[in-house]
Amino acid sequence: MDAESTIIGIDLGTTNSLVAVCDAAGPRIIASPAGERMLPSVVRYGDDGRVEAIGTQARQDAEKYPQHTLASIKRLMGRGAGDATDDLPLLGYRVVDGPNNTARVAIGEQLISPQEVSAAILRELKHWAEAAFGHTVRDAVITVPAYFDDAQRQATRDAARLAGLDARRIVNEPTAAALAYGIGIGSAGTPQTIAVYDLGGGTFDISILRLIPPDETNTDTAHFFQVLATAGDTHLGGDDIDTAIVRLLLDEMNIQPTPTGRQQLRNLAEHAKISLSDSPKTTIASEIEHESGRLSINRTLTRDEAEALAAPLITRSGECCTRALRDAKLTPAQIDRVVLVGGATRMPMVRQHVGEVFEMNPYTALDPDEVVALGASVQGTVLSGKSDALLLDVLPLSLGLETAGGAVAKLIIRNSTVPARATEMFSTSVDNQTAIKLNVLQGEREMAENCRSLGIFNLTGMPPMPAGIPQLEVEFLVDANGVLNVSAVERRSGAKATTQIVPNHGLTRDEVSRMEAEALTHARDDMTRHRVVDLIANSTLDVKWIEDRLAKLGDDVAPAYRAELEVLLTTLRGMVEAGERNWRSVDADVFYKAKETLDHASIRLHEQSIVRTLRKDD
Ligand code: AMP
Repeated sequence: MDAESTIIGIDLGTTNSLVAVCDAAGPRIIASPAGERMLPSVVRYGDDGRVEAIGTQARQDAEKYPQHTLASIKRLMGRGAGDATDDLPLLGYRVVDGPNNTARVAIGEQLISPQEVSAAILRELKHWAEAAFGHTVRDAVITVPAYFDDAQRQATRDAARLAGLDARRIVNEPTAAALAYGIGIGSAGTPQTIAVYDLGGGTFDISILRLIPPDETNTDTAHFFQVLATAGDTHLGGDDIDTAIVRLLLDEMNIQPTPTGRQQLRNLAEHAKISLSDSPKTTIASEIEHESGRLSINRTLTRDEAEALAAPLITRSGECCTRALRDAKLTPAQIDRVVLVGGATRMPMVRQHVGEVFEMNPYTALDPDEVVALGASVQGTVLSGKSDALLLDVLPLSLGLETAGGAVAKLIIRNSTVPARATEMFSTSVDNQTAIKLNVLQGEREMAENCRSLGIFNLTGMPPMPAGIPQLEVEFLVDANGVLNVSAVERRSGAKATTQIVPNHGLTRDEVSRMEAEALTHARDDMTRHRVVDLIANSTLDVKWIEDRLAKLGDDVAPAYRAELEVLLTTLRGMVEAGERNWRSVDADVFYKAKETLDHASIRLHEQSIVRTLRKDD
């Protein structure tokens, strides 16, 4: 990649900002030299008007320097102090009117414009990118909320210029989120209507976009996302859920916390909320500073309790969605996709509510904090004329699942055109499994270790059953944008799990070619190994079943027949053990024959077992 043509994508957020780049391997976030993927949008100035700290450091020390630490500056971009009266109490620093009705922040004697603060953030992100590439970066695509007016957009452009960046395009955040999911990229040429639900820390936005397919002469996708409606609430977000949890705790503790104590509680509340996205309950344990001492708290908070607190807030976001639909004169059935943005959309309750409002599962495959920056970088690549790598009309590599023994069951084979769908039945190989780990794989090889794992997810909540009895139906659906939806249902219990993945991200064309070539080179070996691994898994189940029956039926089995089965069992067990030690040491054909012989010989045992069961029922 060269300095001339790299266009980075920047999500200049109210709370956090991110930078991404898109190359032949697809879009990816650029981390700081210290490994941070997000830059807190916080800058601290000295009394002399110079930047003293930025990002994490500035946020950490915010309490020490409340008047000098500028957070949420985005709320002031392109606005006058008078326009921002709602926001002022939240900001904690002094905002005054500058020339031409534009807000300025007063620090000591200095007046600082919001553009300068944003420029400091953009400059830092530019440095991250330059450190990663080893060359200078001049061009960027920067995102703004869909509702930003001309003055706010112009202020963002000016901030970029101050940071030494040419904002090649200012893109709406929801448009970027859609682009990150491949919507509007490639040849899925039908018009689509997309809802983008963005619930961050402090703000909520819903946007309804229409993607109008480009005509052949124009490859610039940005022109083809039309904003049909936006709605939202600039004071609704994950932080309000933290506040509700803090209130609950304070009511129970019946104390007046000191400012430090209040901050402790906020941190505990946020931490608990985040834990509850993954587990049904969490523990809050600490000592809280209050006006007459310290008080210990040690309490379990359940997801149900947190959801009850969050419900009114989430319902409010749902009402905004309904309003946006009404403004766009659309019904939920006319929405083709829903994309989730913002950290708070990790809450299962939010996903469920959005699913109910729009009557479909939202897109969740990409990190909701990163999706806007990723999409901005996609737009950057489109602008630089290098978007080829992203076209995804066929799947470059097969998609499958890991099965017993580390083999791969391919559900969708390479070069399938999208959309593509496939289902397959699986079962367990161990008794009493109540959870199944599903490893989604990409690649042409027969063993999981030689493929690329795209994600692992768990199907939980199955009642204990003997191995081989659960009926697990797994469906892979790759939609027109290339997003893989995996769903798994255990038919007997109804236990369900789903996940989403974007399979094309992260592989260059060269890597795809290399993987194909390797598959060819190893084809024969791989096939044999896959066969041996499957034989081991199936033989283990057969051996176990026959041993169980022999034990249960006891003297009902004629001694000569028992002896015959024992000999065959010993042979097959020997092959399983040898195969487990080294798959090359067994001849797959001989192994197969041994399994078939035992299966055949055990038919009488099956019959006897059935008769015994029937007798018992009498
Ligand atoms: P954003 O402004 O998009 O970075 O979103 C930040 C908000 O998302 C904050 O309120 C976080 O507490 C919240 N958040 C981040 N991760 C999670 C999670 N796993 N579950 C629930 N909320 C989260």
